[in-house]
Amino acid sequence: MEKVILTGDRPTGRLHIGHYVGSLRRRVELQNTGDYRNVFIMIADAQALTDNFDNPEKVRSNITEVALDYLSVGLDPKISTIFIQSLIPELTELSFYYMNLVTVSRLQRNPTVKAEIQQKNFEASIPVGFMCYPISQAADITAFKATTVPVGEDQLPMIEQTKEIVHKFNEIYAPVLVEPNALLPQRAACNRLPGTDGKAKMSKSLGNCIYLADSADSIKQKVMSMYTDPLHVQVSDPGHLEGNTVFTYLDAFCKPEHFGRYLPDYANLDELKAHYQRGGLGDVKVKRFLNSILQEELEPIRTRREELARDMDSVTELLRVSSLKAREVAGKTLSEVRHAMKIDYFG
Ligand code: ATP
Ligand code: MG
Repeated sequence: MEKVILTGDRPTGRLHIGHYVGSLRRRVELQNTGDYRNVFIMIADAQALTDNFDNPEKVRSNITEVALDYLSVGLDPKISTIFIQSLIPELTELSFYYMNLVTVSRLQRNPTVKAEIQQKNFEASIPVGFMCYPISQAADITAFKATTVPVGEDQLPMIEQTKEIVHKFNEIYAPVLVEPNALLPQRAACNRLPGTDGKAKMSKSLGNCIYLADSADSIKQKVMSMYTDPLHVQVSDPGHLEGNTVFTYLDAFCKPEHFGRYLPDYANLDELKAHYQRGGLGDVKVKRFLNSILQEELEPIRTRREELARDMDSVTELLRVSSLKAREVAGKTLSEVRHAMKIDYFG
């Protein structure tokens, strides 16, 4: 079977380095392998509205921000179709049919949704739309017959839910839908990059992010004030790596050649970690090293972003045209779904 990618992000803010290591970096690599018949990248505005329904301006204004982030990391619109979710009403119709195949208790068991309900203080009253977003995500994935969904670890429950819907649909109606597989980042540290505050996940909604668009000064300031090891008070104290955000970021970003360039006293990350654990290595030195690495990685992205932002008309036109193309593909799947469900009354 030909391989197809579908993945996306919610336009709830600019994209950050958690997105970069968790998904964006991999998408660009996959796009460039030429192994995929189609790569669909979705700006999930309808999903963003499920928990931002009272702030439509936020969602609207971040659509072009996310598009700029995509283009600046190297997603190539000639290969990848970058589209806006709400411009594809077929996705809403698919979601509606899939709702019959999922129970309320199954939705309530989703660990990611559970955690988000807590984080958003929705416990007392959960909007139905928010509760159902895993179903709408299944519609997004299956509408494009995606085989491969490159995502961070927090999305695994959504892929599981999608597989269940695919099985049930194909069993009851006809084998129309394709079962997708999640593709997780290769390095464990990238699965769920923590925030600069040491909290479990860097997230637009938590304000603990280093954004792809951040200035060099802002990156430096964020790195230098990052959460490390509260027990590591004096330089001579032994340091701990567990939960130490600076070292987690090094796990995600550091390559062997960085040592030659920025920290030639050490041969590799293991040596640096060992010294930190022994004691005698200060946080400031490690933070400076991380800052150099991040500056090197993010500088070309920021520069390209600034160039692209000078011609926003091209960016919006690209979104318009690509969304039409995506709609055609989703429309074909919806026709097959309607046929399988025997609701294709007039041919
Ligand atoms: P929000 O707070 O609005 O949910 P978010 O920062 O969680 O925003 P999403 O748009 O929900 O971002 O996630 C888009 C993709 O990025 C998903 O594949 C998700 O797994 C991945 N991702 C998000 N945050 C991280 C992170 N901190 N580390 C690794 N991957 C991440
Ligand atoms: Mg999220």
